[in-house]
Amino acid sequence: MTDTLPPCPECASIYTYQVDALLTCPECGHEWQPGAVDEAAPEIRDSVGNLLQDGDSVTVIKDLKVKGSSLVVKVGTKVRGIRLVAGDHDIDCKIPGIGQMGLKSQFVKKVAE
Ligand SMILES: [Zn+2]
Repeated sequence: MTDTLPPCPECASIYTYQVDALLTCPECGHEWQPGAVDEAAPEIRDSVGNLLQDGDSVTVIKDLKVKGSSLVVKVGTKVRGIRLVAGDHDIDCKIPGIGQMGLKSQFVKKVAE
């Protein structure tokens, strides 16, 4: 047993212990998988820290070269209906005049429709 285990998310008890892949709380009996919540719902935030969701609209905050072409996504380009994906380029979207491509969330800013 180490003192690095996280406290119980249900009752905040610090006396949690690990059983195989699960953490167990002896005080309320809660069992959970460490990190499971983060994997199920990764939080992807834009350049200023807004939480992004599927279907959001964003604008591009700097000129971005499109890999493998001479095209550039200009700063200020509005992109509708983004889809969040796992990976280095965490936004999948269709950009007018360019097509389907991946963007990095740090180079966009959420816009209100
Ligand atoms: Zn507990």
